[in-house]
Formats: sequence, structure tokens, C-alpha cells
Amino acid sequence: MDLERYSRQILYKHIGQQGQAQILNKHVLIIGMGALGTHLAESLVRTGVGEITIVDRDYIEPSNLQRQTLFTEQDAMSYMPKVVAASEHLKAIRSDIVIHQHIDHVDAYFLETNAKNIDLILDATDNFETRQLINDFAYANKVPWIYGGVVQSTYVEAAFIPGETPCFNCLVPNIPTINMTCDTVGVIQPAVTMTTSLQMKDALKIMLTSELPTKLTYGDLWEGSHHSFGFSKMRRATCPTCGERPTYPYLHANNRNFATLCGRDTIQYQNSDITQEILESFLIKNHISYQSNPYMIRFKYNGHQIVSFKGGRMLIHGMTNPNDAKTLINQLFG
Ligand SMILES: [Zn+2]
Repeated sequence: MDLERYSRQILYKHIGQQGQAQILNKHVLIIGMGALGTHLAESLVRTGVGEITIVDRDYIEPSNLQRQTLFTEQDAMSYMPKVVAASEHLKAIRSDIVIHQHIDHVDAYFLETNAKNIDLILDATDNFETRQLINDFAYANKVPWIYGGVVQSTYVEAAFIPGETPCFNCLVPNIPTINMTCDTVGVIQPAVTMTTSLQMKDALKIMLTSELPTKLTYGDLWEGSHHSFGFSKMRRATCPTCGERPTYPYLHANNRNFATLCGRDTIQYQNSDITQEILESFLIKNHISYQSNPYMIRFKYNGHQIVSFKGGRMLIHGMTNPNDAKTLINQLFG
């Protein structure tokens, strides 16, 4: 393999030829392909990671382009799923990268099926529930994961290593600026890259098995504040994830048919009986006009835009209450 493209980081004293060889052998899972996910994916691919798995449940919209750096206007115009557009652009950056892409909602089943041979998980989600799920999966399967959160101009980051550090769940009461509810207050690009820089730095250390202090880092880029605190002593004995008797509750939570999408004014509805073929013939029969590409079908019903993906997953836009979504689905499919 030609290592010339990695020559500048091979020169870096903590990497070298051996470190580069370690990086080339790694398989990293990135959960979410929005602001954090696109930056992380590009960084990992340029750094030389051998294999990545990427997953996201959404498609590209014009309002993503301000901070989701892999995407173009053309991607937004053609309603491309984020992972499909990301894969294409990542392969243009580096043709020998191996990418596994999933247009999917991340739940326990997804992780059990697709994350078994992963060296590291990077959190690029925007919600608390998925992070708790990642945390449970990571500790149950002894995979390190790196948390990253960004809102407005603030950032927060920490690496969790099963068997070594207390888990995310132990830390939750102490995490500053954690967005436990959906954020609708905006975000600026430099705060995104600050978060992903911290995550990438820890990702490199984990891949190189360098020493990693157990600490959480947070700050406000606009205000110029930057802090960290050690959390090696914050393990709770009763923690359901890393305590004495772990039960991994988020891995066993019942899957709900309806989920609210963070800050998107959108409800996700899942019903594997409604395949793309069934939906298409239903729309034709009922004279409802629609657009489609190889990944999705898009139509309007009762003033709501609805986007349907393979596997019976739909995004219903213009509502935030799952009960409204239930009513609409009942009207549609009876
Ligand atoms: Zn814990």
C-alpha cells in the first residue's frame, strides 16, 4: 500500500509507521450523519481508517448545508439519504475506503445486527435516548465509544471505555449543557468542529492504544470558556450499565412504532407491513401523486409531507405529537 498520502501524520511522533498500520486496520461505526457525523466521517477516512459503518435515518435538506460539510446543493435538491450522499463523497476523497451504509433508525436490533465487529463507536446523534442505547450496547459488548454533543456555541465530549471508565449513565447528572430535549436554538459550525476535533483526538488515541485520561471536556466557543473534569471515580455501584449487576435497560426497551425526531417537527412511524411496493400501489389506487428515487417515496396527505423508506419506515413532517401521527396513519391505511 502506498503510504505517501499519510506521510505527514506518520511523521507525527505519536503515530509513526506502526501507528498508521494500526489505524488502517480499524473498523469504526459512526451513528448519525448530520453535522457531527459528516465531519467525523471525513476525518476518519482521510486519517486512513480501513473500514467504516455509517447509519442515519434522514435525507438531506437545504438547511443542513450550513454545517453538514460533505453535502452539496445537488444532494439536497434530489432528496438524497444522508448516508448515500456521504458514501459517494467519501469514496471520492479516498477510493480504497470500505463503507457499510445503512438508511436506518438505530435501535437495539440494529446494533446487535450491524455492530458486532466494531473497534470503536462514535456518537454523532442529537438525542439522549440513542446515547443511552449506544452506552448499553458498548458496555455489554466491550466496545469503546465517544460521546459528542453540540448546541448553539457549546460543546461537550467524553470517551467511555468498558472495563476502564465509568459509563455515560453514571455521568448524566453531571454533564453540562446536555440537550435532553430536542434543541431548537440553533448551532454554529465552529462549535461542531470543536466537538468533532475532541472526538477525533480521542478516537486516534483509542485506535493507537495511547494513554487516555478519563475526563469530560466542555466549553463555550463564543464565550471562550474551556473546561474539563476527571470522572474516573464517578461510577455508581447501582448503575444499570456499568454497576455491579448490569441489566442494560436500553437494550431491552420495547421498540415503539412512533418516535419523535429531534428538532425536526417530524414523527417517524415504523410498520414493516407497509413495503414500498404496497405503498406505491396504494397511492396509485387512491390517486395520490408522489415522487420517488431509488431510496424513498415522497407524497403529501392532509397537508403533511410524508417520506417513506424501505422496511416500512416513514417520516411524517409537520407534527410533533405521536397521537396526531397515529390518527393520520389510521386515516391513510385504515
Ligand atoms: Zn455506569
